[in-house]
Amino acid sequence: MKKIMLFISILFILLGSVRAEDTFKGKGIWIHPGDMGKNEADVEEFFKLLDRCGFNIVFPLVKGTGGKIFWHSQKFPEAIHSDYKEFDLLRAAVKYAHKYGIKIHPWLCDFPEGKDSPAFKQHPEWAMLNPRGGLTSEEKLDQDRPYNPVWMCPVRRPGYTDQWLIPMIEEIVRDYEVDGIHHDYVRYPGDVAPDSYCFCDYCLEHYLTYNHFYYHNRPQDQISLKKVLPREEANWHNDLTLKPPDWDKMSREEKADYLLNGKSLNRNDLDYYFYETRCDAITRFVREATERARNIKPDIEFSAAVFINPMRSARHIGQRWTDFLDWVEVMAPMNYRSHFQGSFEDYLVYLEDYIQQQMKWCEGRSSLYAGVTGHYIYLEEREPWEEAIHILSSEKIADAGRDKLSELMEKNIAYLEKFSLKRAKQLNNTFKSFLKNKIQNEKLAETLREILRDPPAGFFPEEKLLRTIETVKKAGAEGVVIFAAGIIQRNKLWPALEKALAK
Ligand SMILES: [Zn+2]
Repeated sequence: MKKIMLFISILFILLGSVRAEDTFKGKGIWIHPGDMGKNEADVEEFFKLLDRCGFNIVFPLVKGTGGKIFWHSQKFPEAIHSDYKEFDLLRAAVKYAHKYGIKIHPWLCDFPEGKDSPAFKQHPEWAMLNPRGGLTSEEKLDQDRPYNPVWMCPVRRPGYTDQWLIPMIEEIVRDYEVDGIHHDYVRYPGDVAPDSYCFCDYCLEHYLTYNHFYYHNRPQDQISLKKVLPREEANWHNDLTLKPPDWDKMSREEKADYLLNGKSLNRNDLDYYFYETRCDAITRFVREATERARNIKPDIEFSAAVFINPMRSARHIGQRWTDFLDWVEVMAPMNYRSHFQGSFEDYLVYLEDYIQQQMKWCEGRSSLYAGVTGHYIYLEEREPWEEAIHILSSEKIADAGRDKLSELMEKNIAYLEKFSLKRAKQLNNTFKSFLKNKIQNEKLAETLREILRDPPAGFFPEEKLLRTIETVKKAGAEGVVIFAAGIIQRNKLWPALEKALAK
């Protein structure tokens, strides 16, 4: 009897461990074109490496934020990146991904295009406009840093969504044996002026009609709020019109101001409709993309890189990704450390907490593959180098700056010594030359940058990446997606991934 009990206990333990392993099913990575190379042999080598590390799903970039594409499109040949006119990168990626049993979801940066992109050149009217009628590319991140992408309006029809983006997705699904499509930038811009788009002519009318702010059969009717109940907002359910009588004479800026700051009941609540309308436009695109792709290939999957909190991203970038669950099989929130405050240890706690909530948001309807990066987790390792580079970038370094630089360099040289005596010695010599004014600031800065670009193995300790992935598993996510192949290559972290992911 005891033996039987023991046998049953062992069986349960085994089954339990199998089940725990099975729930962590997705091992994915984002890949930039350059990471795969420019010929078949490079691509095969790359997929061999991914296979060795245990990856079973990949997201190779096929449409960048500048609008350039990386497949041999019949419909949009003018958008093909000049480096890949001869070599069909996606064709090779599909071939070798499948050779090694890896699923492939080509990754599209959905709504940004470039100033020189064919879509924007052919159809400038498809671009998003701010209240002043300006493009996103006229915004500035700060005084000296221009913002490059031209974001396209998701609402306008016919427009970018139905004439360009969805046809691109259809073409990939029709012409390539892909397993899925991966959405990124499936939203409004968030880093510059998140509240300023879109106020194109089409959108301005759309806010009024979509929210039924007037009767299109009786456009002259002005109906104000009927107050029956004492509390003003309690009268919300009675009809009213919210199109101002002088709407047609108002400037774009005045219309935008009304939509952002106007009142429908007893407070300035019209912006609610503005934000909801933006969310609905993005969700409509997600739904239509999936429906159209499924018409071509019924078992096609969709995945999406989304922001960590669907409630907050709904408000700020029109990305209420809880609305995508019926059309996106794999949700990959970008749980990068850069979106969290505090130490690395704090990050691990916050990461686990957020993943647990993201699983709830997914309701078991989409699989949650947590996105993490091999870059931002190394804040502590990078910071003293970046700080030194920053000091060196100023024309004249004050005495305090010089002291600080010496302190940082001493620390950096000692750190580098742990991984490469030779390179630490070289850096020490370069720094000595700098102190004797034999070399310029820029030369020393470049030497420091060179070490960050090509650090010795161990410089970015694998333990941090391993603990991050361990936390993702512990939190109960169904998978992990690593950002990105180029960073893993640069930071010499492939062996760490092999440890964490390979069976
Ligand atoms: Zn618009």
